[in-house]
Amino acid sequence: MLNLAGNLPGHTLLLMEQSAAQTKSPAWQLEHSYTTLPSAFHQAAHPEAVAAPQLCCFNRPLARALGLPEESLAGAAGAGIFSGNTLPPGARPIAQAYAGHQFGHFTLLGDGRAILLGEQRTPEGELRDIQLKGAGRTPFSRRGDGRAALGPMLREYLISEAMHALGIPTTRSLAVVTTGESVLRDGANPGAILTRVSKSHLRIGTFEYAAAEGDPGDLRALADYTLARHYPELSEAPQPYAALLARFGADLAGLIARWQAVGFIHGVMNTDNMALSGETIDYGPCAFMDAYNPETVFSSIDHHGRYAYRKQAPIAQWNLARLAEALLPLLPGQRAAAIDCANQVIERFPKQYEEAWLGQMRTKLGLFEAKAEDAGLIDRLLACLQEARADYTNSFRLLSTLQIEDHPLAGNPTFAKWHGAWRLRLEAEAKPESTVQAQMDTANPAVIPRNHLVETSLQAASEAGDFGPFHSLLQVLTNPYQAEGVPDTYTKPPEPSERVYQTFCGT
Ligand code: AMP
Ligand code: MG
Repeated sequence: MLNLAGNLPGHTLLLMEQSAAQTKSPAWQLEHSYTTLPSAFHQAAHPEAVAAPQLCCFNRPLARALGLPEESLAGAAGAGIFSGNTLPPGARPIAQAYAGHQFGHFTLLGDGRAILLGEQRTPEGELRDIQLKGAGRTPFSRRGDGRAALGPMLREYLISEAMHALGIPTTRSLAVVTTGESVLRDGANPGAILTRVSKSHLRIGTFEYAAAEGDPGDLRALADYTLARHYPELSEAPQPYAALLARFGADLAGLIARWQAVGFIHGVMNTDNMALSGETIDYGPCAFMDAYNPETVFSSIDHHGRYAYRKQAPIAQWNLARLAEALLPLLPGQRAAAIDCANQVIERFPKQYEEAWLGQMRTKLGLFEAKAEDAGLIDRLLACLQEARADYTNSFRLLSTLQIEDHPLAGNPTFAKWHGAWRLRLEAEAKPESTVQAQMDTANPAVIPRNHLVETSLQAASEAGDFGPFHSLLQVLTNPYQAEGVPDTYTKPPEPSERVYQTFCGT
């Protein structure tokens, strides 16, 4: 089995990493563990040069955490590297092969416009994929141009960084460059490239690809690699592949519960957009809900509401089943026993999700103990918010004063009744008010990336070259649980005229 941490005893390794972190000056330290996988999983792919790259976003704290040379990357060197015009030292660019169920239909895909430069070994000794999205055609581009438009790349940068600040596992964004070239979508748009950073780009779709390809050795190599990279502690389990599936399912339940808790709608939960690392990945037509309505769908391509807010947990379970199917040849016993093992994991998911979600919602309500009646208490509040078309984020945030008069729904009799029951439940726990409030204020964001603000900031950048609104919004979103000093424009729900009903991937 592959050991990505090397063969040194844990203790020695830790000491070496610490001293390396202290002494090494920031530099590219690219490794290529993914290319140790059989050749079916990757193809060489070189970024295509662009005309006039300009750095318009650079994530300095992330560059620092990655151990990259922050100062030089913030200048002209960064524009060269993040556009793919110059390769950083040690880069060996490739495109990854994968498949996926897109809106329920199986397709062979692969990185059609994303190029992996390598895996940066961070000062903490971890590996992070460094990927250029929109860097030109690859062997998997099919009829696509391999490029990306500025609006969608800024959108991914903004929302992934907002998710990170909210404490939700996610890929990160290191940079966006404009290319000085146009891409044709609905007319000409400024072209751009996003540098995405992730724990890996292994997807459920990578396993589906291996299963479809039909070489049992390749599937096993992929599973071993995934274990080594993300779940090394499971490598020694009696049934490591079954353990991998079970752990992934449990983590996925937790991830979706966190999305639900902040009102995040991914929009395209195709199996190629589900990462084995447990990170949220691929921000296309994603959006945060303003008024609470579980039927909410934003994506312009989601005609049947497959990926609506209320469907995210069942769809995650459906996706988990696709992973389980792909892994069947590696699960213990003959086929019937393997199917039984897979089914157990899949059937556990709804309960795991329910528990994770209840945990999130209790925290949002300042509750510390689990009681059987909690689900009812939460459901009654949500029904009231839906009925009143109340803003999801603010309705929770404004609960933490504990005073009903401070709440926008104070005059609503259903809400008033609910508030009384909730206060009684809090009193029964007898925690100091300040403790309850502190917990609530770290679970209920004051600011989320509201669609109308996201859209106007992307428009200003794409249409007028004005990045001011984008950077101001990004700044506020990096501290989402902090309400003081945040201008109202960022916390107010949209006026009816400002409401965004549809989001576009725009690719
Ligand atoms: P996404 O919707 O970004 O998850 O992409 C789905 C698939 O389409 C992936 O295989 C992408 O690499 C591919 N793709 C998306 N946009 C393009 C493009 N402009 N050129 C080539 N391939 C693309
Ligand atoms: Mg994708």
